[in-house]
Amino acid sequence: MFKPKAIYYEKDIINYELGKELMKKYEEVPKIEIENHNNIEEMRKKSNKEFMEMKKNLIIGVRKTHKFVENHKTSDYLVPYTSSGCTAACMYCYLVCNYNKCSYLRLFVNREQMLEKIIKTANEADRELTFEIGSNSDLILENSITRNLVWTIENFKECKKGKLTFPTKFDMVDDILELDHKGKIIVRMSVNPDYIINRVEFGISRLDERIEAINKLGEVGYKVGILIAPVIMVENWKELYLELIKKLESKISNKVKKEASFEIIFMTYSFVHTKINEEAFPNSIKLYNKEIMKGGGRGKYRYKEEYRKEGEIFLKEQMKKYFPNNNIEYIV
Ligand code: SF4
Repeated sequence: MFKPKAIYYEKDIINYELGKELMKKYEEVPKIEIENHNNIEEMRKKSNKEFMEMKKNLIIGVRKTHKFVENHKTSDYLVPYTSSGCTAACMYCYLVCNYNKCSYLRLFVNREQMLEKIIKTANEADRELTFEIGSNSDLILENSITRNLVWTIENFKECKKGKLTFPTKFDMVDDILELDHKGKIIVRMSVNPDYIINRVEFGISRLDERIEAINKLGEVGYKVGILIAPVIMVENWKELYLELIKKLESKISNKVKKEASFEIIFMTYSFVHTKINEEAFPNSIKLYNKEIMKGGGRGKYRYKEEYRKEGEIFLKEQMKKYFPNNNIEYIV
């Protein structure tokens, strides 16, 4: 259970039910009032070495930006929702976006306003829309602090149209198993080989736990998906990902197999990740490999086309063999 070292909060949060609840829940935790959750000077000044220390804090504010971004993968819109960042530390996390150290967990208490906008947009649309609500954080993790997912599912169930979707790497799904979700929620479990999880994904659920969680969700009728992401081309990557696919094939329930589609995403990395990881995790494996990666603009690194293509062919072949009836929605 996450217990913050300190809480940085905007004073307006006490005008919201969730804000009051969180302040009460963490009565004993030291608190620092801030002007704006987007710009905490004290955090900006910290060195990369203090990355994990920063993640022990909790930032609570009011979300001001509510712009939906069109999306054409597994949803119609990416929606800024109730949190941003995370208490865990995957070395490739794309929320480690810049030097402002914005990857710590920020909670936004104006959830009514955010869900109302989704419901209004869904009901006014001339077709069934899917909203991605987990692109800025991990909602299963967040739910263990705020119970926001429980609140969301309960308040979205009567919406006439539309679906909500989010990815996760956590297994604490028991809170949502008994809810009447009416088939409107799609949970996509993100997986990686044990070797990668142990060396690169710090503070996240293990592979077996994630598989068990997705089986539980499938059992109670949630729509489910599986992300193999991000694919990291370490030296023996073929062996590792083949082992992963075989494990999924043997441990995923028939119910999940019947309905899950897959997404496969190759890792993108960046100059900023390299800098932070070198100082925050000096003994960890190096994810940037200049032999097989190239710059992709704005300090980003991607696998060179020939290696990515080889990866794509290999993974497609294995998926065809072990999951012949499941759709791969995309490989990027
Ligand atoms: S669990 Fe998701 S949000 Fe958290 S550090 Fe890992 S990739 Fe980032």
